[in-house]
Amino acid sequence: MKLSDDERYMREALRLARKAYGIREVPIGCVIVYEGKIIGRGYNKRTQKGNVLCHAEIIAINKACRYMGDWRLEGCTMYVTLEPCPMCAGAIVQARIPRVVIGCMNPKAGCAGSVMDMFSMEGLNHRVEKEIGVYGEECSTLMKSFFRDVRDGRFPRERRMIPLAEEKRLESAD
Ligand SMILES: [Zn+2]
Repeated sequence: MKLSDDERYMREALRLARKAYGIREVPIGCVIVYEGKIIGRGYNKRTQKGNVLCHAEIIAINKACRYMGDWRLEGCTMYVTLEPCPMCAGAIVQARIPRVVIGCMNPKAGCAGSVMDMFSMEGLNHRVEKEIGVYGEECSTLMKSFFRDVRDGRFPRERRMIPLAEEKRLESAD
């Protein structure tokens, strides 16, 4: 079966989300694509880094900006497994990313239509085109499975104890 570009890139975002799962982070992955090339990848490292800024989307935006040499990410498409939070939706608008493909929605915190829709706000001068539900089942199953593990106590209480060597290995596998 031939995959569409959206499916191909969302699969990569899902692969990254599984890496986050592997280090016991909420499994969210993100890639940014420019002219058919992935220029930024990220997965959630909030707990590992002990830093609220370390969401998948922000990490991917950082890398994409470095690649583009610009804070504007015009002409780029972002693929993210979960609907962005207020911080990330804000960064997407600020970076002027024109299109975002979302795996599954986040009714409790999503800002691309769930809690609010920052992608099409009257007062903001940038609109973001969005596509929802690419590999939606897979993205949502991954989230559910993660939170089931948390509820069932399958993760130790201290979730920040990823040895540095292991982190380096994960980083270089990006
Ligand atoms: Zn976020």
